[in-house]
Amino acid sequence: MILLDGNKTSDDIKLEIAQRVEERKAKGKKVPHLAAVIVGNNGASLTYVNAKVKACEKVGFESSLVALPETITENELLQKIAELNNDPKIDGYIVQLPLPKHIDEHKVTLAVSPAKDVDGFHPENLGRMVLNLPCFLPATPAGILQLLDRYNIETSGKSCVVVGRSHIVGSPMSILMARNSKVGNCTVTLTHSKTKNLKELCQQADIIIAALGKPEFLTGDMVKQGAVVVDVGITRVDDPTKKSGFKLLGDVKFDEVAPKCSYITPVPGGVGPMTIASLMLNTLQAVEMRE
Ligand code: NDP
Repeated sequence: MILLDGNKTSDDIKLEIAQRVEERKAKGKKVPHLAAVIVGNNGASLTYVNAKVKACEKVGFESSLVALPETITENELLQKIAELNNDPKIDGYIVQLPLPKHIDEHKVTLAVSPAKDVDGFHPENLGRMVLNLPCFLPATPAGILQLLDRYNIETSGKSCVVVGRSHIVGSPMSILMARNSKVGNCTVTLTHSKTKNLKELCQQADIIIAALGKPEFLTGDMVKQGAVVVDVGITRVDDPTKKSGFKLLGDVKFDEVAPKCSYITPVPGGVGPMTIASLMLNTLQAVEMRE
């Protein structure tokens, strides 16, 4: 079993980006600038946003954190988004989800300029992804592609089961794994909470991508010998033995599944850091596209 090390791979990518930023500076070109919008005080969201800002520092990007109160109205947030769209200093930005219930996430996603949509959530980018045209790929699926690519995992002709069909992970992942591309050309089965024979489908899969948000859902008896398993899930579970009071669990029961796998991602240290590396790559792409 080989561990797909997201920490190391994302560090490699960040180093490559840092070099490209230095080259840009030497040529007098603009330093990429990523902004992150966060609404309210959700602990997990704050952790994710801080990690993204830290990654910007590491690669030499400029960054701005736009922290807005939980009580902000939808119109006020849309106004802020219009400002970011029109600000020439900002090359790309993300709006950290989830948003408070009184704000319509779809309206917000649609308001983000597709040219600055480095999360790749705008329908224009998703549509271009389906057509295999240049676009911002959603950061988590793009990070998974990078990981599979950099470990030279053969995907062509393999059967791939994606568990979970969210707009940000499962659905785009299923499209990308089926694309005619270097990492792709799989025969994909997209599964969800209404899927009846999930265990049997997983048992036959060469590659399983678990993105359902149910801790330790995928157990050893659901995985065939030699499978590649990518664990996207991150759930905070109370753990009084930890200083933070919680631990992070993935969607895969690692101790049972890992011994059967050819490759597997850990949680933490697998897909999470790759998501951030993809966001940095998308931001670099944003500034290059504008030029
Ligand atoms: P969502 O809650 O939006 O979607 C979950 C999906 O899983 C839904 O499609 C749902 O089906 C499906 N599902 C739920 N229960 C089952 C089940 N018993 N069997 C099969 N499918 C099921 O989650 P996200 O996609 O946003 O996130 C998934 C996980 O990934 C979370 O733990 C999240 O924290 C993590 N995540 C990690 C990231 C990273 O960088 N590592 C980035 C983004 C997310 P249905 O549609 O029928 O309801």
